Amino acid sequence: MTFTAAILVTGSEILMGRTTDTNSSFLARALDDHGVRVVRTLAVDDGEEAIVNGLRSLLALGVDLVITSGGLGPTHDDRTFAAVAAVVGHPLTLDREAFGVIDGIVAAFAAARGLDPAQFAAGNRKQATLPWGAAVLRPVGTAPGAIVAHGSSSIVVLPGPPVELTRMWADASRHPLLATILAAGAQPRRLVRIYGVPESRVGDVFAELGGDRAGTETTICASRSEVEVVIRHGHADGGAATSLVDGLRAAFGSAVFSEGPAPLEEIVLDALRTHGWTIATAESCTAGLVAARLADVPGCSDVLVGGVVAYANGVKEGLLGVSAGLIEREGAVSASCAEAMAIGVRDRLGADVGVSVTGIAGPDGGSDAKPVGLVYLHVVTPTGSRGIERRFHGPRENVRSWSVTAALHLVRLLARPE
Ligand code: ATP
Ligand code: MG
Repeated sequence: MTFTAAILVTGSEILMGRTTDTNSSFLARALDDHGVRVVRTLAVDDGEEAIVNGLRSLLALGVDLVITSGGLGPTHDDRTFAAVAAVVGHPLTLDREAFGVIDGIVAAFAAARGLDPAQFAAGNRKQATLPWGAAVLRPVGTAPGAIVAHGSSSIVVLPGPPVELTRMWADASRHPLLATILAAGAQPRRLVRIYGVPESRVGDVFAELGGDRAGTETTICASRSEVEVVIRHGHADGGAATSLVDGLRAAFGSAVFSEGPAPLEEIVLDALRTHGWTIATAESCTAGLVAARLADVPGCSDVLVGGVVAYANGVKEGLLGVSAGLIEREGAVSASCAEAMAIGVRDRLGADVGVSVTGIAGPDGGSDAKPVGLVYLHVVTPTGSRGIERRFHGPRENVRSWSVTAALHLVRLLARPE
């Protein structure tokens, strides 16, 4: 049996686009991990009526779970519990235990700052005033959450600040009241990640392979320059999923770079580690973003030696040893310059692998011969060397971020295990 859920995000700051709603994506993923299907996400403003109507419309879908985010604070404009009480038809009552917990947290906070705790008393009382019969979730900040039963549904009320919401969800998901709904666990799935192939081509190949078969449900999704194929399957349909994965692998070869969720930079670092290689970067138009992506991964320092941001020709010449004549002859945005930068940074920083990027990020600085979006990348390793030319379209930030991805993939290709 598949359980269903809906998410109600509250806050006018979300509707006005001032806060990006990350809570619903966090919750949707978390529910998916428990095999619960999210059928609707709804954002409403902070008004009690808006929250009441939102809750009613989601409960009318017949979902097993409604999860709300936000509106639990101490001020008059935090109205989620009032709305939940109205919807379930229970009075709001002071939960003495929750009140005590909040009082303790706030007293410690006030003492640390030399403030009079009495000024927080009304807010504490408000935050501990919950629909009668609610199961209280311990506060992460000062606001408790709650699980409220309503007919055959459960309403889980969580705070808005993402750090509080994620931590309180961890508690809620272990609560006995949710045990039945969350017991199923994630539906089995296979993942295939492909780089450098248009999404439509992946779709065509998927269709040529016969598409979904009994027991599989596939989504194909492009993000940045990668295509992610997710094949969900029934517990007994692993064989059908495997034959799709095998078909995609056969069709796309080394463009398939992962069957797991690890970020690309982690995959690249692991590939380098299998050879015992270190890496250094020489970056013109990406100005350190390749190194920064690698440094996003904790523990990267055994592989990442360092990098040179070589924007000016003088830096390419002085720090990387690119010859002035080469730059004069071919230009700083050229295959030869990229190669010289990669070799230069590898040698000067004493790494095993050098990777370089030089290009025209735009919006200005292009010419007929060297248009905006033209990027040269080069990688040298102890066993090989390869340069590529790319022509990216779109704004400056896209040219730069696609260049970073292209550079990381080029390293990955040259560092593939034998
Ligand atoms: P508080 O006690 O801080 O008032 P609250 O539970 O009342 O908490 P809100 O007032 O709705 O929550 O939101 C507090 C802050 O949390 C917002 O200013 C915003 O920065 C962040 N926030 C709220 N909802 C979301 C969301 N859906 N996604 C990301 N951040 C959010
Ligand atoms: Mg608030």
